[in-house]
Amino acid sequence: MDELESAYRGAKKDPRFKKELAHYLHHFAGRPTPLTETRRLAKLLGVRRFFLKREDLMHTGSHKINNTLGQVLLTLKMKKKRVIAETGAGQHGVATATVCALFGIQCDVYMGEEDVHRQALNVFRMKLLGARVIPVKTGSRTLKDAVNEAIRDWVTNVRDTHYIIGSVIGPHPYPMMVRDFQSVIGRETAAQAKKAGIGAPDYLVACVGGGSNSIGLFHPMLKTRSKMIGVEAAGLGLATKQHAATLSLGHIGVLHGSKSEVLQDKDGQINLAHSISAGLDYPGVGPEHAYLKMARRVQYVAATDQDALLGVKALSRIEGIIPALEPAHAIGYLVRNKSLFKKTDTVVLCLSGRGDKDVVQISEVMPS
Ligand SMILES: *Cc1c(COP(=O)(O)O)cnc(C)c1O
Repeated sequence: MDELESAYRGAKKDPRFKKELAHYLHHFAGRPTPLTETRRLAKLLGVRRFFLKREDLMHTGSHKINNTLGQVLLTLKMKKKRVIAETGAGQHGVATATVCALFGIQCDVYMGEEDVHRQALNVFRMKLLGARVIPVKTGSRTLKDAVNEAIRDWVTNVRDTHYIIGSVIGPHPYPMMVRDFQSVIGRETAAQAKKAGIGAPDYLVACVGGGSNSIGLFHPMLKTRSKMIGVEAAGLGLATKQHAATLSLGHIGVLHGSKSEVLQDKDGQINLAHSISAGLDYPGVGPEHAYLKMARRVQYVAATDQDALLGVKALSRIEGIIPALEPAHAIGYLVRNKSLFKKTDTVVLCLSGRGDKDVVQISEVMPS
């Protein structure tokens, strides 16, 4: 951890590192992403202006590549020969396999056996990109167990291996470092909102799994007057045990090396999370979100699986954009809670990913 922190602090101050990262973010991944004004959605929600920050247009289909590009350049700087990663739905695994292919680095991705079966297409993508996918057979055989195995591998092989964590979770310096790499979302948004004539928007909204796309949007604008809403997954409902609403219903605890809010039983054993969206299905959340909740700077709410489907339908039909299930939670929440807004409000929502990865799953539960 100390080695990583000092390498990262060095890179952060190094103009060459920053220039190189900016180069790949632009030429390889497609930054800057547009801030798209959605007039019909604004009308539906009864607000003055509504904008989507289009991370769905990034290479590999989500914001995850902002972080994997940053960390793979750090891997080169640290002269490590091998990269490992964990993945749930496979989006972070694909983004990691992609940047490893770009630089010719060996890549091993840990994935719960359950998820290997559920996300066969992403497993194939990772293999096509030259990565090895290692099925994890311990515990619930999902994301939390994949993180466990990746940490075990890392402590064994740390001399030649870097572990690219996919969200603002895990031990320091990961929550800080991943936040910094994702903050490009908020920095661009601030400049684009200004250009669009709305200054600091009245509301910033994003979905929260581990919390990386949301902190990326929020962090550069914490000192403005913008109100901020993070939307977690309420799964089958907050009254059931089948949800991933860590900030709504969790308690302070320790998971994967950080102290934050955690879904746990009275003995501190981790409870299983549930969400229709594998990208939100994690029983912890980044520690900075727990802090922002305590400080009352960000409001955290939850949206159910059904709300997410409503969000998918709404954005597809009225704006011609099929969202991933994760940000669809945030859209669905707003559609269900229109009374939140005044007629004069301006809103920016982070569209963290596109829906292609989810359409088969959606087609199985949604009557067309
Ligand atoms: C992984 C993922 C998320 C959830 O992760 P965060 O770290 O909370 O951003 C959200 N949206 C998409 C599209 C994802 O792939």
